[in-house]
Amino acid sequence: MADTQFTLDLNDDQKEVRDWVHGFAADVIRPAAAEWDEREETPWPIIQEAAKIGLYSLDFYAQQFFDPTGLGIPVTMEELFWGDAGIALSIVGTGLAAVGVLANGTEEQIGTWVPQMYGDVNDVKVAAFCSSEPDAGSDVAAMRTRAVHDEAKDEWVLSGTKTWATNGGIADVHVVVAVVDPELGSKGHASFIVPPGTPGLSQGQKFKKHGIRASHTAEVVLDDVRVPGHCLLGGKEKLDERLARARERAKGGERVKNAAMATFEASRPAVGAQAVGIARAAYEVALDYAQTRVQFGRPIIDNQGVAFQLADMRTRVDAARLLVWRASWMAAAGRKFESAEGSMSKLYAGETAKAVTAQAMQILGGNGYTREYPVERMHRDAAIYSVFEGTSEIQRLVIARSLSDVPIR
Ligand SMILES: Cc1cc2nc3c(=O)[nH]c(=O)nc-3n(C[C@H](O)[C@H](O)[C@H](O)COP(=O)(O)OP(=O)(O)OC[C@H]3O[C@@H](n4cnc5c(N)ncnc54)[C@H](O)[C@@H]3O)c2cc1C
Repeated sequence: MADTQFTLDLNDDQKEVRDWVHGFAADVIRPAAAEWDEREETPWPIIQEAAKIGLYSLDFYAQQFFDPTGLGIPVTMEELFWGDAGIALSIVGTGLAAVGVLANGTEEQIGTWVPQMYGDVNDVKVAAFCSSEPDAGSDVAAMRTRAVHDEAKDEWVLSGTKTWATNGGIADVHVVVAVVDPELGSKGHASFIVPPGTPGLSQGQKFKKHGIRASHTAEVVLDDVRVPGHCLLGGKEKLDERLARARERAKGGERVKNAAMATFEASRPAVGAQAVGIARAAYEVALDYAQTRVQFGRPIIDNQGVAFQLADMRTRVDAARLLVWRASWMAAAGRKFESAEGSMSKLYAGETAKAVTAQAMQILGGNGYTREYPVERMHRDAAIYSVFEGTSEIQRLVIARSLSDVPIR
């Protein structure tokens, strides 16, 4: 008898989550999108609304994260970002910092810091993950922010400048990646918690951006920031062991995969799902418009030139979602990304969001070019998806390297 176990159907719990998140995206996020895009500010009241219903909470994301099929997070992301990418990123940006702690922290560190990142319903907080630097974007190994251990006080002293940090400077808890052993390149990095109110951490420039303008992006300056020893994620013993192993391998000339890079690879499908949400939103607006806009005495969708564009848009959105779901399922099932499937999903979904939002603008004609309609904003928002969490070129590099032993640069 045929094995009928394989299914792409969401189960009842997943459908419930999808519909619940969609309801919030449609009723609360989408109507506020244009306003917060113009204000270019963190939409605190909306984060608070999300917190009130449990949609901005550690519990909710942990539950989705541990969905054994892997689809809890991508389904949630797609619906939130369908509502609006800038606001949605303000809601899920904390998750990036939380994942940084979940990936590297001890159980005690996870229990102490991750709940603090979200605050509580009456006093919501956000968190920031600070890795990128002015001279270390794609080239993470060029990072310069140093962390030096002051053994006498068992404190770490962090100094340097981080850039592009989502929620940087407005966060309560900052997770900062810094160099502990410059000889080891990216294997000599470690992550630290900078607790709320720590002296020496300040916000530098806040960036005025092309899109996702409701999401705060800024430099974070670390001027001899002292944090207690227990703020080193994973603890000193584990760090020393890891560095010793890396030194051994470096001596033997062995190339080792960077743990932080492996974490990024695993988080990429979630970012791809965000792009799918934007692309689907723009496609839906365009489909609706094409059916109602009349030119030459007939709806413009009556023309193959328009209908075929919509067919391509829908096909790309579905294909992107399938790549995202495959990678999410693989990650949850503990399958290794042998062919950089995480990168494939982020690359294809990010490029799809850019292409589909551009096509949607074209279908809306002059209206598509104005801020009276949402596709112009969606197109600006989509542009970040070939840049952050690894540019499209870096995704191609990761995929290309997985294909053969040729050391492609
Ligand atoms: C809105 C926003 C939010 C962000 N949020 C965060 C955050 O929360 N935390 C954080 O740490 N970082 C964050 N980032 C940083 C983001 O991850 C980096 O911008 C990204 O990794 C690219 O780095 P870069 O901007 O320095 O570009 P560069 O690395 O300088 O790249 C410039 C161009 O060169 C290309 N390029 C570089 N190297 C290669 C190569 N080897 N082969 C081919 N092409 C190459 C790139 O693809 C790109 O097109 C954010 C960025 C933005 C814009």
